[in-house]
Amino acid sequence: MAISALKQLESQSVFAQAELMDHEQVVFCHDKSLGLKAIIAIHNTVLGPAMGGTRMWHYADEASAVTDALRLSRGMTFKSAIAGLNIGGGKAVIIGDAKKIKNEALMRRFGRFVDSLGGRYWTAEDVNMTTQDMEWIHMETPYVTGIPESMGGSGDPSPVTAYGVYVGMKSAAKRVYGSDSLAGKKVVVQGVGNVGRYLVENLVKEGAKVFVTDINEVKVDQLVQKHGVTPIGMSDVYSFDMDIYAPCALGATLNDETIGQLNCAIVAGGANNQLADEELHGQMLVDRGILYAPDFLINGGGIVNVYYEHTGNYNRQKVMEQTERIYDTCQAVWDQAVTESIAPQASAMKLALQRINDIGKVKLPY
Ligand code: NAD
Repeated sequence: MAISALKQLESQSVFAQAELMDHEQVVFCHDKSLGLKAIIAIHNTVLGPAMGGTRMWHYADEASAVTDALRLSRGMTFKSAIAGLNIGGGKAVIIGDAKKIKNEALMRRFGRFVDSLGGRYWTAEDVNMTTQDMEWIHMETPYVTGIPESMGGSGDPSPVTAYGVYVGMKSAAKRVYGSDSLAGKKVVVQGVGNVGRYLVENLVKEGAKVFVTDINEVKVDQLVQKHGVTPIGMSDVYSFDMDIYAPCALGATLNDETIGQLNCAIVAGGANNQLADEELHGQMLVDRGILYAPDFLINGGGIVNVYYEHTGNYNRQKVMEQTERIYDTCQAVWDQAVTESIAPQASAMKLALQRINDIGKVKLPY
């Protein structure tokens, strides 16, 4: 979907979009007194309850918030399926500037709406959300993960997400360079928030040459001070002479305008929905000879982490082992892509759908 196609999607009614993307349920949450406007989208619950984080963002308009919730929740279905988890796909967005409107009451009110779904949707952190927010939500509902370790939760899932992205990047390096070492590789990390900064840590430890950019200069400066990484301008990212581009900010950065400029061999990052149009842009990367590590596959570490938290049987070692499977799953995705002459994104979606279909058959109706 090119940027304009995304706008076209946004212009359609909620039901038209839900029909197109096959959603089960879309919930609008509103509280005038607290200024809460949120959308909870449940995409698919064949494998289990819908799970996916809550994002807070100052959307340009309500239509983009709806489409974001719908696209992100769909992505969660594929993400959990390919990670081998028994949960479905869901996501929530809260409309507004976190710096201006976020407070305890707003979070707890949102928690009441999550609770009203009786466990069909479980939430966690996403962009602009913290473990403190999960703690507030948890005051109103048990259906929340990513709560602080001091409260018996598994804490922020971002370090595990970042580790999975790093594992996926190594797998891509193995495919392209014959060795999975990232030492000396030039990696541009776009967005150094929760996921990006932990990814930078892994990369620096391995001896990669790391370049960073973010709309928030403070975050960039902190990483420059801490790790000696090199800052680059936001507009320099795509044409920068790099080996690996790691999108770790928001989605749709792989689009008609950017793919032609890309000056790298690999795209492997943590952001959700990196391809503005899965089919078109997935294929454009293949045509340009750039190996794409599907986002919903390599950023699945966080969902593995919160999945084990939600089972009540959290085990960090098991979480890390399951996250490391991303390496082999990437190879299987790329192998299938070559055999079937399809793009890696299509190949990963095929594997995920296969599991949903197979497990769906296990659950025969009584
Ligand atoms: P975050 O808000 O902590 O970090 C995002 C960073 O991107 C911020 O520092 C922000 O300033 C920066 N940013 C925004 N627009 C930018 C732009 N145009 N150019 C450069 N930087 C920009 O969020 P996060 O938790 O690190 O998540 C990052 C991405 O990874 C999101 O797409 C999220 O959905 C995805 N993701 C996160 C997790 C997780 O565990 N946190 C799991 C899976 C996927």
